[in-house]
Amino acid sequence: MRQATRAVALLLLIALWVSAARVSGAGAAPASLRAIGEAQSLAEAFGDGRTLIVFAHQDDDLLWMLPFWPVADRFVLAAYPAAPAVRRLIQTFPSELNYAGRWSPAWGETDDDTFAEIFTDRCKRAAIVNVATIEARLRPLVTADIRRIVTHNNWGEYGHAEHRAVNIAVRTLAVERGIDVWALGDRVTVNGEAPSDYVDVAAETGLPAITGHVDPELLRALRSRYLASIPVASTAELTTRLRRWSPTLWTWSGAPEAFPMGWQPFIQLVARGRDLTVGNPVVTRLVREIAPHNQCPSRPILPSP
Ligand SMILES: [Zn+2]
Repeated sequence: MRQATRAVALLLLIALWVSAARVSGAGAAPASLRAIGEAQSLAEAFGDGRTLIVFAHQDDDLLWMLPFWPVADRFVLAAYPAAPAVRRLIQTFPSELNYAGRWSPAWGETDDDTFAEIFTDRCKRAAIVNVATIEARLRPLVTADIRRIVTHNNWGEYGHAEHRAVNIAVRTLAVERGIDVWALGDRVTVNGEAPSDYVDVAAETGLPAITGHVDPELLRALRSRYLASIPVASTAELTTRLRRWSPTLWTWSGAPEAFPMGWQPFIQLVARGRDLTVGNPVVTRLVREIAPHNQCPSRPILPSP
C-alpha cells in the first residue's frame, strides 16, 4: 500500500474506533471492553475518565493495554525518562487518538545521549529505576480523582523485571488510595510470534476478569511508526549502544502476529484497595516460574521470590 493510502486507512480505522467507543454507552464508553460472555460494553465501569494507564516502557501500552486507550485519562510512562525520539514518535500518532495530549512521562524527558549512556544499561539504570523510585514518581500522578489503573501483571507478562517493578509500585499505591488495578491475564513467551505464545491464564487465577479487544490492524499501523523510528545519539559509540539495545523504538518482535490479538482477558489485581493477588496460589506460581528478564545480576530490583 502506498504511504498516503495507508495513512488514510489508519485515519478511517481510528475514526470508526472512536465513534464505536462513543455510541456504545454513556460518556466515553469503550466498545472494546466487555464483561466475559456478555455483549454489553463496560461503559459505566471504565468510561468515567478516571482511569490511568501506567506502563514501564514506550511500546508497552500498545502491546499490553490497547483496549483501554479510549478511556485513559493519562498514559504514564513509568520506568525511564523519555528520549526526544520518543516525543517525536508519539507526535506522529493521528490526532484523533489524542495520545500526545494525554502522555505523561513520570520521569520527565532526557536527551538521547543520556538515554544511551544510562538507560540502555540494565545495571546503570537499576541504580536509578527500582520499585521505591517508581512508586515515588507515580505518587503525584495518582490524583484523588483517579479510580483505577491499568498496568502490567504481577509476572510482568513474559517476566521483564521493570514490568514487575511497575506492577508492585502500582499495587502499593492502589492499596494506599483504595482504588482498582487491572492487567492483561496472559502468560507470554519472550518475543512471542504466534498466538499460542499468548496464553490466557485469567480463569486459572480465579481473579475477576473482563475482556478487551485488541484490533490487529490498529496495533500494526501504530507499530509501523515505532519500527520506522531508528534511535540516534551524538556520537557513533552512543548510537551503537542505542541500536544494540534496540534497532528501532519497537523493542518486541515485529512479526505479523507478535502481540495479544482479538478479545483478550484482563484480570483485576486490586479491588478498592484490597490486593486480590496476595496469597493467590496461581499468581504466586506464575511469578515463581517465569524467570525475571533483563535484571542486573549484581543489583536486582525485585524482591527474591
Ligand atoms: Zn517493556
